[in-house]
Amino acid sequence: MTRSPAPRDDRCPSEDLSEFVYLDHAATTPLCPEAAAAIRTGLLLFGNPSSRHSVGQASHEALAGAREQVAALLGCPPAEVVFTGGGSEAISLALRGTFAPLRWRGHLVTTAIEHSAVLESAAALRRRGVDVTVVAPEPSGHVDPARVAAAIRPDTTLVSVMHANNETGAVQPVREITELAHAAGALMHVDAVQTAGKLPIDTLRADMVSISAHKFGGPKGVGALRLAAHHRVEPLVCGGGQEDGRRAGTENLPGVLGMAAAAAAAAPRLHDTAYREQRWELRLRLLRHLSSLDGVHVNATDPVMAETISVSFAGVRGDTVADVLDMHGVCVSTGSACHAGQDSPSHVLTAMGVGDDRARATLRFSFGPATTAADIDTAARATVAAVNQLRRVSGQGALLTAQPAGSAGAH
Ligand code: PLP
Repeated sequence: MTRSPAPRDDRCPSEDLSEFVYLDHAATTPLCPEAAAAIRTGLLLFGNPSSRHSVGQASHEALAGAREQVAALLGCPPAEVVFTGGGSEAISLALRGTFAPLRWRGHLVTTAIEHSAVLESAAALRRRGVDVTVVAPEPSGHVDPARVAAAIRPDTTLVSVMHANNETGAVQPVREITELAHAAGALMHVDAVQTAGKLPIDTLRADMVSISAHKFGGPKGVGALRLAAHHRVEPLVCGGGQEDGRRAGTENLPGVLGMAAAAAAAAPRLHDTAYREQRWELRLRLLRHLSSLDGVHVNATDPVMAETISVSFAGVRGDTVADVLDMHGVCVSTGSACHAGQDSPSHVLTAMGVGDDRARATLRFSFGPATTAADIDTAARATVAAVNQLRRVSGQGALLTAQPAGSAGAH
């Protein structure tokens, strides 16, 4: 039976996480206290930011302040920040918005490991007539810039590559790929949804960068697209001239203030070496625990984000292990939250050449700023016990001890 943190009148629901070991931060993160306070302010600031009167102007000023904070995270002028209804919308605006004014002509280069927000946008573009090239990753989980270079053509309009993969944590060479795209006269979009607030994204030189607040301590349903001043997109949402005509609709002030507060709260951690080292120690701690099992395989090699670990356990199903862990109060996922409930193996692992059995035997552990060594120990012990138990039940245990051990020690 699934227990869920029940909201109480006087407490933020995420405070009830004390009952759980939550290692699913790649799916979503608990709201940070700074964001919760800012959301409350945004709810009380009821004026329409477009109204001329004082009540409206108070909201207008709050919105402008939030835009500056999000611009600092993105490393761009505030005018280049377009607030959206989340990461998927930012990505759709970048991709569809670029090709719509071209009447769906041109060429898009993307990769097979992108989030479905990119892949489905690319599929929709292809149906309209855009030529799309999908570059395969290496077995390490990384996109080789040479393969992207080979895919870029004189008529390439846009290259879209994610900063870090949401399932494996593999960090992609987006800076190098951006240079390649620019050298060929193409635009570059980076899906930085998984890295915003965790790795610096202010030095990305892409023309468009997508982020989503709920992945770094902000609320759900709000995100942003960094849209370089030299690039105009056709809006997805038409109406009033909000967001400088790039995204119509009265702004989601509570959401935007929440996102900005989360961005400001995450900023000091980005360059805090001690904090980064602690994340690596947590990762290694988890892998050390798991290496007591045979038949363990880590699904990406360096460079990876410390916070996201994709591990396969031969002979068991990832979803069954995740369900057992949930009963013990440990929250992990089998891969992308967007595909939870689907039986098909992960498109990311499949593209990396991982076979169906290993892909289905995969768990994703992803941690956040509040994760402790004790959380890792609890989750890892529960995982080892669950895997051993399930292997015993299925008679896989004896089989595996006869096979060479996997690469659980790697990061
Ligand atoms: N891109 C990546 C890499 C993601 O992990 C996600 C969410 O899981 C998205 C895009 C979509 O973001 P949102 O949930 O805000 O629409």
